[in-house]
Amino acid sequence: MNVNGGPEQGPIVILGGTAEARALASTLVGSGMSVVSSLAGRVSEPKLPAGEVRIGGFGGAAGLATWLESGRVAGVVDATHPFAERISASAVTAADAAGVPLLRLERPGWKEADGEAWTWAESLEDAARMVEGPGRRVFLTTGRQGLAAFARVTTSSFLIRCVDPPEPPLPPRAEVLLDRGPYTVGGELELMRAHRIDLLVTKDSGGTMTAAKLEAARRLGVPVIVVRRPSRPDAPTVETVDDAVRWVRSLRPAATELNEHDEQQETRTHAQP
Ligand code: NAP
Repeated sequence: MNVNGGPEQGPIVILGGTAEARALASTLVGSGMSVVSSLAGRVSEPKLPAGEVRIGGFGGAAGLATWLESGRVAGVVDATHPFAERISASAVTAADAAGVPLLRLERPGWKEADGEAWTWAESLEDAARMVEGPGRRVFLTTGRQGLAAFARVTTSSFLIRCVDPPEPPLPPRAEVLLDRGPYTVGGELELMRAHRIDLLVTKDSGGTMTAAKLEAARRLGVPVIVVRRPSRPDAPTVETVDDAVRWVRSLRPAATELNEHDEQQETRTHAQP
């Protein structure tokens, strides 16, 4: 790992793949900090954050712990997507093993407007059980992964929107639309009208980039199924980029102290005959 911050300060690592992760990287790099963002490498042309970027898995929690230790990382912000369960679990285990402070940055979930009543599903499989219906036209926006859960739904037809082409199995009646946010309410209204959508299925991703579909569904009176977020291992958590920036800044004195101590040790080692 290239430690741009010099010998006295290891980098802040951001586990990314979200708009918040990019915003955090941009703010920290803009204030002169050394930042390494990590991406899974799932999308073919990812939006790249400011600062250093590394791409690909670590080989589980043990691999991540080794990587954190070898880079003398000052702190980790897990700013991955609310549904990226495995990397968040790895982050908790690895940060603990490596003795590196960890913060979870997770944007708030979406909330129904007054008078609205979304149906909540516990999982994609649960949502798939709810969408069966002859002649039903479903706008499926749960992403490229996990679509196999809907493959056995033969009665409904689907408009599936995702960033990169999904892998089979897909439902037999499916049209795939490749696109990435941010989306506008006007655009979503047009799309949902053009495809005569009568049911919207989404994960509770939260945030503004993909929220326009919910407003469009509300205006069109289209019912909404929302897949509930998975539970996560305990970690200190904030909801905003500003709070994450404050947490990172609060680490710096401690990290500097630690590294001064390291330097003294080094000096002593070098002074020995
Ligand atoms: P996941 O199921 O939690 O992770 C699967 C494996 O991918 C992890 O065990 C890890 O491999 C690797 N990985 C995931 N995120 C990584 C990261 N930021 N840096 C390095 N390795 C990472 O994750 P996912 O749901 O596939 O999501 C993958 C990425 O897409 C994440 O960065 C996430 O923020 C983003 N994303 C996900 C969704 C979603 O709906 N799930 C939506 C938008 C964006 P190892 O075990 O080998 O370390």
